[in-house]
Formats: sequence, C-alpha cells, structure tokens
Amino acid sequence: MSNAMEGRLALVTGASRGIGRAVALELARAGAHVVALARTQGALEDLDDEIRRVGGDATLVPCDLKDSEALDRLGAALHDRWGHLDILVANAGVLGPITPIGHVDPKQWDNVVAVNLTANYRLVRSLDPLLRASDAGRVAFVSSAAGHRAEMRPYWGPYAVTKAALDALARTYAAETATTSNVVVTVVNPGPLRTRMRAAAMPGEDPETLKTPEDLAPAIVALCSPEFRDSGKLYDFPTDRLMSFQGPA
Ligand code: NAP
Repeated sequence: MSNAMEGRLALVTGASRGIGRAVALELARAGAHVVALARTQGALEDLDDEIRRVGGDATLVPCDLKDSEALDRLGAALHDRWGHLDILVANAGVLGPITPIGHVDPKQWDNVVAVNLTANYRLVRSLDPLLRASDAGRVAFVSSAAGHRAEMRPYWGPYAVTKAALDALARTYAAETATTSNVVVTVVNPGPLRTRMRAAAMPGEDPETLKTPEDLAPAIVALCSPEFRDSGKLYDFPTDRLMSFQGPA
C-alpha cells in the first residue's frame, strides 16, 4: 500500500461497481479515507471489506443521487465530522434509453438528467465550501466522449446531452474556482471499459477486448493528488492525454 493519499478525504459516487469501485479501492490503497456512495448497500459492504483487506478504511453512504436533500445532508455531515473535503470523484451515471430522441419516455429523460447532470450540480452546491476548505481540493467529473460525438451516436440522445452538459458544468466550476481557491477540476473521458454500463450499451461486444476500470483508476487518483494543478482540462484515458476544450472562436 502506497501512502501518496495518506490523510486525504475522498468522496466517490457510483462506488458500488465499475469505475467508481475501482477508483475508491485505488484511493484507499493510497491511504485516503473513502466516502463511498451508491444505492446498493450490499455492494458497498463488499467494497468496505476489500478496502479493509488492503489496510484502508471507508465510510459508506447508501444513497440515491436523485435525493437532493440527502446530498445536502451529506455535505452537512462531512462538515461536522471533518470540516473539509479533499477529493470528489463524481463518477456515477446511467446510460438511459438508446432510442430516437422523439421516442424517449419523459420519465426516462428526467431520470438521466437527474443522475448524470442535476445530481452533479447538487454535489457541487453542497460540497463547494468543503472543497474550498481543503488545502488542495480536487474534483474529477467522469464524463464521456459521447457528448462530443453526437453525430456519430444517433439514438444516444439523453446520455450525450447530459454528458455534454456535465462538461459545461465542470468547466464553469473550474473557471469559478481558478483564482479564488485551491480547487482543481478535471473532466475524465474513460473510453470503452469493461463494465455493466458498457455491456448494456454494446451487447455484441466481447468484454475481454476492453480495458478495465482497474486500468483507469490510477490515472484518476493521480488527477486527484495535491501535485496535480492544471484545472479545467479534459483527461482522455484512451490516448492518456490532458486536453484543452475547444469550440467555436
Ligand atoms: P456502471 O458499472 O453501470 O456503474 C454505475 C455506478 O453509478 C454504480 O455504482 C451505480 O450504483 C451508480 N449509480 C447509478 N445511478 C445511481 C443513483 N441514482 N444514485 C446513486 N448511484 C447511482 O457504470 P460505469 O461504466 O462504471 O460508469 C461510471 C461512469 O463512467 C459513468 O458516469 C459513465 O457514464 C462513465 N463512462 C463509462 C464508460 C464505460 O465504457 N464503462 C465510458 C465512458 C464513460 P448503484 O446502482 O448501486 O446505485
């Protein structure tokens, strides 16, 4: 177990499986205390066991990200217990329906917007003062290239729209914190990884051909270290590049 994250406090959303679980474990291995959030309590307890096995410790938060008031209460609880938050890995997300935009059921639309976008705004709203109270607050928003490739991904409307909006949320927060705090914000594009979401999106694909969440996790941990200071960038895991966002002049 390395101690690069010794004494750091990290909240990871979507920690019950996939990318979030691997990042939570990697942070714990590096010495961070991990606050692990997801809905599935049993999976969080399994994660807790594994974190203990590697010599770390965790706090479990079984919670639906659509419960905005619970996110407010979480901020208050973190404030009361620690007074700050060093790391937020805003990873949880849902794929939503793969269908033409005009066929999307309104309830499914609202669900994807609530989990992929609104929950991340509510996390920032609740946790911003705690991240600013850290000596080196770090935020990684786990997004997707889908938001940039809408023309190549017909039928992925709710997912692409919410990930594009998440990127804008992250860039706005990066700009707002740049000169007034030690907070550093990064958007992460994982690329195709062997998870339940990817299997649902691409049922015909052989998962064994894909990289795993464990391959990505060390890169996200590095983006969350106090030494990393390049805020407002996009980290592209498939090419291992830190990129600037580009748009019309
Ligand atoms: P996954 O295996 O389906 O895991 C999703 C995680 O989000 C689970 O831990 C799930 O936990 C949590 N979650 C979903 N809805 C939630 C809710 N309402 N409240 C709380 N937690 C919730 O997916 P993944 O592939 O690891 O994806 C993680 C992130 O990477 C997502 O944002 C995804 O868009 C992004 N991404 C993945 C890929 C890929 O190829 N895998 C590519 C690009 C981007 P519970 O069900 O226990 O609540």
